[in-house]
Amino acid sequence: MKIITTVPDMQRESAALRGQGRTIGFVPTMGYLHAGHISLVDRARQEADAVVLSIYVNPTQFGPGEDFQQYPRDFSRDEAMAADAGVDFIFYPSDTEMYPEGHCTVVSVHEITDNLCGASRPGHFDGVTTICTKLFHAVNPHFAVFGQKDYQQCAVIRRMVQDLNMDLEIVTAPIVREPDGLAMSSRNVYLSGAERKDALLLYSALGLAKRRIAEGETGTAILIREMTDLIGSGSHTRIDYVKIVHPDTLRDLEAIDDTAVGMLAVFAGRTRLIDNMLFSK
Ligand code: AMP
Repeated sequence: MKIITTVPDMQRESAALRGQGRTIGFVPTMGYLHAGHISLVDRARQEADAVVLSIYVNPTQFGPGEDFQQYPRDFSRDEAMAADAGVDFIFYPSDTEMYPEGHCTVVSVHEITDNLCGASRPGHFDGVTTICTKLFHAVNPHFAVFGQKDYQQCAVIRRMVQDLNMDLEIVTAPIVREPDGLAMSSRNVYLSGAERKDALLLYSALGLAKRRIAEGETGTAILIREMTDLIGSGSHTRIDYVKIVHPDTLRDLEAIDDTAVGMLAVFAGRTRLIDNMLFSK
């Protein structure tokens, strides 16, 4: 496994692989790897000759007062996990490599960023789409794998790739959960024991809605109220949003006609957690 820290070196490796007719699968991450990230690597390994994993805590996708400084980082642990998982290259750039003096270009996707995390975290998706564009140009992969855990991010990246005619495929991989249902996240390390217990209410609420839909309930106002009540029963939870949206447009739905996605963002203590689940009538 090679560790690459500069964009030109990454571009050279990628060009050499392509020159040998090898396909490149790319997994962008912010590091502090867990089994969710490794599932994306496994997926990439199934379909690519070479797997590139990037580790970069991107400052531009964090808002003021968010956890950029505290975000967990442990490169040597990540390096060992990536090697075990069969990663071929880690792209591990510095801030000055990604945002050198004078950098002033932003890639901005509109409309599907209006709702959900786009509304709660102004500027977040501009940071995501800008860094993903830069990483795609550095790695030049045939495809990139993203987790459904960040459902809106997947939709935004797909839109960007289509709108800007980027020549790569976006693959979405399922959410990996702890045995009790909590969606894996690097931020779960922030949770105290009591917060970790309350964090389970996210998965319980999504499961409740799924059951109620299976019983025939299609009104989203009722489903949202029931999910809100359940999540609100925790003493450490504070809801950012509880929504049921169209799977493609991410607009709020009044009723579930066919398929929908339940989308949650909830603070457990000071830690903001997201989760989602696909529903069908
Ligand atoms: P992050 O390091 O949190 O920015 O995540 C990097 C990639 O891993 C993104 O595509 C995430 O959607 C994905 N990911 C994070 N957590 C999970 C999970 N629990 N299951 C599947 N994919 C995940």
